[in-house]
Amino acid sequence: MTEPSATPTPEGRLNEMLDKVRAYSPHADLAPLEKAYAYSLKAHEHQARASGEHYFVHCAAVADSLIDFKLDLPTVCAGLLHDVLEDTPVTRDQLAAEFGQEVALLVEGVTKLDTLQFVSRDEAQAENWRKMMLATAQDIRVILIKLADRLHNMKTLNYLARERQERIAHETVSLYAPLAHRLGMFRLKSELEDLAFMYTHPEEHARLDAEMKAISVGRDAALERFKAALEKKLADTRIPHRVLARSKSLWSIYQKMERQKKPFSEIQDGMGVRLITDTIANCYALLGLVHTEFKPVAGSFTDYISVPKLNLYQSLHTTVMSAQGDLIEIQLRTEEMHRTAEFGIAAHWRYKLGAATPDAHLEEKLNWLRQWIEWLQDLKSPREFLESLKTDLELHQVFIFTPAGEVKVLPAGATPLDFAFAVHTEVGMTCVGAKVNNKMVKLDYQFLSGDICEIITKRASAPKKDWLNHVRTARARSKIRHYLREKGIVA
Ligand code: MN
Repeated sequence: MTEPSATPTPEGRLNEMLDKVRAYSPHADLAPLEKAYAYSLKAHEHQARASGEHYFVHCAAVADSLIDFKLDLPTVCAGLLHDVLEDTPVTRDQLAAEFGQEVALLVEGVTKLDTLQFVSRDEAQAENWRKMMLATAQDIRVILIKLADRLHNMKTLNYLARERQERIAHETVSLYAPLAHRLGMFRLKSELEDLAFMYTHPEEHARLDAEMKAISVGRDAALERFKAALEKKLADTRIPHRVLARSKSLWSIYQKMERQKKPFSEIQDGMGVRLITDTIANCYALLGLVHTEFKPVAGSFTDYISVPKLNLYQSLHTTVMSAQGDLIEIQLRTEEMHRTAEFGIAAHWRYKLGAATPDAHLEEKLNWLRQWIEWLQDLKSPREFLESLKTDLELHQVFIFTPAGEVKVLPAGATPLDFAFAVHTEVGMTCVGAKVNNKMVKLDYQFLSGDICEIITKRASAPKKDWLNHVRTARARSKIRHYLREKGIVA
């Protein structure tokens, strides 16, 4: 995710992209990428970003991130084109004619998500929104494009008015960072969180940033000394390896301070390095070398290679003491584990590039689904897992808005009566009519996701017998039945 230092020419920028894609998919036909590049550049020709930059800079940045995730060509093309439906006269049909259904569907998916505007500060609402986004997206690549889009928007947030900065930053922490986390994309998650932190807590961010910088000189020196000692120890080994410094997330330190109610000076936040090698056997071999040179801290060793975390994270963790007495946390992993830890689901996501036969395509999709299920197991509880499966794979739920912009999740086929009882029992009991998207509907109307529903009530009104034929939720059914039974209307 490196930013080019000088603004390159469009040709230079395109060639850079082509080279990067070629590096991970040498046999792909890159003509569609060149075409999408030129098409997007032309479509956004007369638009500028709030920064004053040409609008296309944003599209190229989004595509760059998707290339960093090593995603397939249709996704990268859709990244370049992700704003043309929303911001230019180009239509979906034109896009499909030029780039095929797959790219058109991806762009359409991103455009749909863009119309949703999250305002709530309620965590349960945020969870409903995340589910809705997954369900709306249907293809997980839509979410990946949306995440890349959000990353660049966060990087250029300083050009917007304060109020919008706050709203977008809040949305980023409550919706997008958790989505990235759920998809195992930890690097993206902490990047989004740290960018948002700057706007949600400007003073705390500035203070912590200054405190970190104040101690960083000493810490950097200590870490460099340790790295040098480690490199020296490993110099004679034939085991391939590279040592990486670990970046620190200000937001995660801040959260630790909040959780432990301690100032920064009292937060135990160990220095750390990563040791990356080629095979699992070599991870253990390197661990042996590390432990013979540096004394491990008792109880600090955890083996996430033989027992991976549920989200597929794998590494060996150990904390050792340097010659100067500093505690250093070391994570040992293979290159592949490193990629999974950094990029999560994106690391596993590979369409066969180039022309796939329909069958091969289907096979990829099925693999994808299996992978997706594995990733979903990261969720907190089995129930939550099953819920997500329903939402994401079978689409058995609809998402309905209250006029105030809250989202209610209901089973497919749900009606305004279900909605009324979901809002409040009293609203259900006294319901006399409903408006959906500002038009009166019958009480047996079946919702479509995204409907905005307003319930009309009348104080003396009461449930009718035929309501039982029009509800899908157990909640509404039992409330109605209870009332009818009390009145002797049903047995
Ligand atoms: Mn965009």
